[in-house]
Amino acid sequence: MLVLVLNAGSSSLKYQLMNPETTEVKATGLCERIGIDGRLIHEAKGHKIKKDLPMPTHKEAIKIALDFLTTGEDKVIESIDEIKAIGHRVVHGGEFFNQSVIIDEDVIEKIESLIPLAPLHNPAHIIGIKICRELMPNTPNIAVFDTAFHQTMPASSYMYAVPYEDYEDHKVRKYGFHGTSHYYVSNEAKKMLAKEDSKVIVCHLGNGSSMCEVRDGKSIDTSMGLSPLEGLVMGTRSGDLDPAVMNYLMEKKNMSSEEMISYLNKKSGLLGVSGISSDLREIIEAAENGNERAKTAIDMKCSRIKKYICSYAGVLEGVDAICFTAGIGENADIIRKKVCNGLEFLGVELDDEKNKIRDDKSREINKTNSKTKIYVIPTNEEFVIAHDTYELVKA
Ligand code: ADP
Repeated sequence: MLVLVLNAGSSSLKYQLMNPETTEVKATGLCERIGIDGRLIHEAKGHKIKKDLPMPTHKEAIKIALDFLTTGEDKVIESIDEIKAIGHRVVHGGEFFNQSVIIDEDVIEKIESLIPLAPLHNPAHIIGIKICRELMPNTPNIAVFDTAFHQTMPASSYMYAVPYEDYEDHKVRKYGFHGTSHYYVSNEAKKMLAKEDSKVIVCHLGNGSSMCEVRDGKSIDTSMGLSPLEGLVMGTRSGDLDPAVMNYLMEKKNMSSEEMISYLNKKSGLLGVSGISSDLREIIEAAENGNERAKTAIDMKCSRIKKYICSYAGVLEGVDAICFTAGIGENADIIRKKVCNGLEFLGVELDDEKNKIRDDKSREINKTNSKTKIYVIPTNEEFVIAHDTYELVKA
């Protein structure tokens, strides 16, 4: 069965055509600059095409993607009828969804009602869903939520210590994100550990970064909150800070609340501290050339990750495995080393040589006798979306 996985952003659309039964990926693509000018990157049969194509709206983008899948030399299917279901990544499912669902009017209304909590993402997802329903009226659409995996968190993790009525009336609480990645990676770790009641900590370190505390396959706590701004130091996001900083700076710099949120989301994090880039590779290079702010940015990133590892290990009363994933977690051995260094008291012993090996497969990088395992597990969110979609429609 072929499933189309779609991730519709505000000006972009990522897609992947996949067979979830065999995990074979037939084609992948990215439509960028939708509503501006339009650019397509499409990869199939080992060929990568880059083309500027007008994409005034998401509708043209989806049509272009479907055209590339069904026509030309690198076509991978004869007709869109071969696509048996469409799996949509949806960032915010609020408290409505603790698992993936087949999309109907009620689901669309619920995703719409969550727009105030995800103003950049949920509107784009709804557009993607509606266009698919229009272009392929007989094909089922499935929603897979970034927040769903974290719905198992206990109140002690998800509540903020603000007046309770604001949780009841306004749903102010921690939701957590990157759920499909945390699910996939912790599940792989669980298989690798082959142990009952496993205690796993996942470090998803990309431009957006978050951590997750997982007990026997269930999310117990995560570092992102009401929005993806809380937690780790990220590419351009500040992560945790004293909320009083906001009011103080708004007065000092005469900023509105929107400007403040944009400052914390887009101008802060590694970029804000280093003044160089949000891309860790450039910051590592600058630090190696002696740039002090770049060194501070890296130290802050690693120290924050370490704090979360220790607090999660404390709540879990131990840890069986620490997992690294996403762009930084999978590739930056320097960051893994800095994070693990000093955690020997938790039974964490990194093998320096194994840590340096480059590989795109899941692997163990701890010393043979390390009590706590350290895993690098490449994430695969598209597979989770395709798999959930398949499970819901296969009957
Ligand atoms: P996202 O999906 O959140 O946009 P990714 O998971 O693609 O992000 O991760 C992007 C980050 O990974 C960037 O900061 C990039 O610098 C970092 N990264 C990728 N490869 C390497 C590498 N070899 N060494 C260090 N950092 C890397």
